[in-house]
Amino acid sequence: MSELRRILKRQFGFNDFRAHQKRIVEAFVAGRDVFAALPTGGGKSLCYQLPAIAGGGLTLVVSPLIALMKDQVDAARANGLAAACLNSTLGEEEARETYRDLAAGCVSLLYVSPERLALESFRDALAAFGVTRIAIDEAHCISEWGHDFRPDYRALGSLRELFPSVPIAAFTATATRSVQDDVIAQLSLRKPLIVRASFDRSEIFYRVERKRSVGSQIAGFVERHRGEPGIVYRSTRRATEETAALLRRRGLHAAAYHAGLSQEERRERQERFVHDAVPVIVATIAFGMGIDKSNVRWVVHGDLPKSLESYYQETGRAARDGEPAETALFYGANDIATIRHHISRIDDDSERERSEQRLQEVLRYAESGVCRRRQLLAHFDEQHPGNCGACDICRGEVETEDATVAAQKILSAAVRTGQRFGGRHLVDVVTGRATDRVIERGHDRLPTFGVGRDESLEYWLSIVRDVESAGLLARVDGRQSGFRLTEEGRRVLKGKSSFVVRRGTVAGGGAGGHSNRPGGFTRAEGSTPIGGSTRAEDPTRTEGSTRIEYSPAALGGEEALFQRLRRLRTRIARERGVPPYTIFSDKSLKVMVRNRPTDRRAFLRCSGVGEYKLEEFGEAFLREIREFLAGE
Ligand code: ADP
Ligand code: ZN
Repeated sequence: MSELRRILKRQFGFNDFRAHQKRIVEAFVAGRDVFAALPTGGGKSLCYQLPAIAGGGLTLVVSPLIALMKDQVDAARANGLAAACLNSTLGEEEARETYRDLAAGCVSLLYVSPERLALESFRDALAAFGVTRIAIDEAHCISEWGHDFRPDYRALGSLRELFPSVPIAAFTATATRSVQDDVIAQLSLRKPLIVRASFDRSEIFYRVERKRSVGSQIAGFVERHRGEPGIVYRSTRRATEETAALLRRRGLHAAAYHAGLSQEERRERQERFVHDAVPVIVATIAFGMGIDKSNVRWVVHGDLPKSLESYYQETGRAARDGEPAETALFYGANDIATIRHHISRIDDDSERERSEQRLQEVLRYAESGVCRRRQLLAHFDEQHPGNCGACDICRGEVETEDATVAAQKILSAAVRTGQRFGGRHLVDVVTGRATDRVIERGHDRLPTFGVGRDESLEYWLSIVRDVESAGLLARVDGRQSGFRLTEEGRRVLKGKSSFVVRRGTVAGGGAGGHSNRPGGFTRAEGSTPIGGSTRAEDPTRTEGSTRIEYSPAALGGEEALFQRLRRLRTRIARERGVPPYTIFSDKSLKVMVRNRPTDRRAFLRCSGVGEYKLEEFGEAFLREIREFLAGE
């Protein structure tokens, strides 16, 4: 067994690296820069914690999530790592202690906020302590293209100069190519190892519906998932309160969560949700960052999200345990007006423009008939082949018709004009409009000129939007430039894939600006949905998913043991003042329930149990399991 594998088991309790982790860890230990885009739950922290142990010295971890820093430190310490943090919320005494430990060389992982790094005095101190590795979490925050750009992250750009010989690894759970390029440039990463895991969350079902009466639409959804833990996102505090009250009137146990509550109230509600005491939380987007609740079975958006990135992040809080989950997005014309209103109040011109662009993207997602997964993945420059079988479009909940020929006309126009023009120009060519630019470039002499005269301008514009959403065309570089064909675009152009659109109200005039528009894909070769699975048979899936039972009498053996271990975990967590998941994850508890270890060796074999946790918690958990088996 290699040294890294040994550390993986001893310190983290895992038997194998996940795909990508190994490459990242090896490169980082060897002193190479790294850029890694891994989806939520992808196991990022291990990618810098393990090198911190293996490589020795002091690893600096920059994270913007000050509120979570203490939890991250607790989690690292629970694995026996010498971790500490420095940020503005720390008391003077604690900070002094950390500085003492740093000076004594007994800290191997130091979590800091970007603000702290901006302080001259702190930088000097760091130089004195000697930094051997730098990890930047949520690295997309440095990019203006990211969905939550933070100006103070810009300061990280000088880290390279400050520590010229120290390897830097940047991690993010949400990166488009433009963000990736930007992060690499801003941080001056040198020939970094670039790792991009697939962003496909295949266990999540996506559905979008227009609002009719959103309260009852939400309640209907939650009722179908009665007893299963889930999150309803609303855009305002008032809406969270109203929706929670509505759900309670219908006999559904729900709590609201928003920034208007006291810190204590928020902490308590979050904890009750995390501990399954309240199955439904109705929250503004303030909720969820860094929550390690693996059994969230559904997520509902009661309003249009601000961007596709945030939508992806928020829906991504479901199904971290890899079991199926269902999501729904309800949106209406009012949502658009509300977001536009917010956008109009942004002072910075380029920021306002970006927000408008993000709104356009999320609208295109909601209104188009392209497979939702394909669109989300295309947003991360990832192509998804064929029909996903787990979204409303692919499940045939939306009526579609074939538009392969229309797509081919646009794609052909893109190729013939040299793959560098935007959608409007392509539409001008296809519809045979002799604009100045068309004439100037001689595009009126192309065979594709005017091949789409029969359909309206709106029709072609919507085809272009959907062809882009589906990832058949991609921007050459950056968001403003022209389109090039993707691999999948080439397949459609060659007739190897077909392209379907919503059954047409576009050509027929559209419904109030929300015309039904182009759609998902089916492979030309066959009608079997690719990527479809038994899960797609019934998206509501009442069987097999985690249900919370409140009556102990109704609990089966497995569930009863799980609850006992969970209570034990809560008790230990309380005593130590740390979050329960830092003791063991739900997944580790489930493995214990399945394996029912009764001695130390068997306990150590459970995923998530390393030597440190064996020493710390082994006794207590083994006793609980033995008592359970003895029927006590
Ligand atoms: P991220 O920060 O990418 O969202 P985390 O670092 O929180 O992900 O890891 C997500 C979960 O996966 C955690 O519960 C972690 O313990 C678990 N995990 C990470 N690496 C492994 C591994 N190699 N084997 C099993 N579980 C792992
Ligand atoms: Zn789909």
